Amino acid sequence: MTKFEAVRQALVARYKELGGDMERLEALTTQPLDADFAEQAHEIEEIEALEALEGAKLQEMAAIRAALSRIAEGSYGICEVCGAEIPEARLKVMPAAVRCVACAA
Ligand SMILES: [Zn+2]
Repeated sequence: MTKFEAVRQALVARYKELGGDMERLEALTTQPLDADFAEQAHEIEEIEALEALEGAKLQEMAAIRAALSRIAEGSYGICEVCGAEIPEARLKVMPAAVRCVACAA
């Protein structure tokens, strides 16, 4: 078991959860619109909000994939800017963090 096995498992679990959310969002945004025009305008607004949410989730999924490949390569937990070790406390809060607090600021 590597040093980051617990983090890796948490990331994989989160990734699956996001994948499930994406499927639900996808089902909602591809529903046919209501026949009523006023209702359509309302639905389009909702779809736009859902699509923004989908975008945020896709970004998080990409960050998780990147973190998982860094764990596999052994470069996880190292700041990509200054090369310092990212403190475990920070990784706990932000498992996909690629920079130390100083470099992220
Ligand atoms: Zn740094």
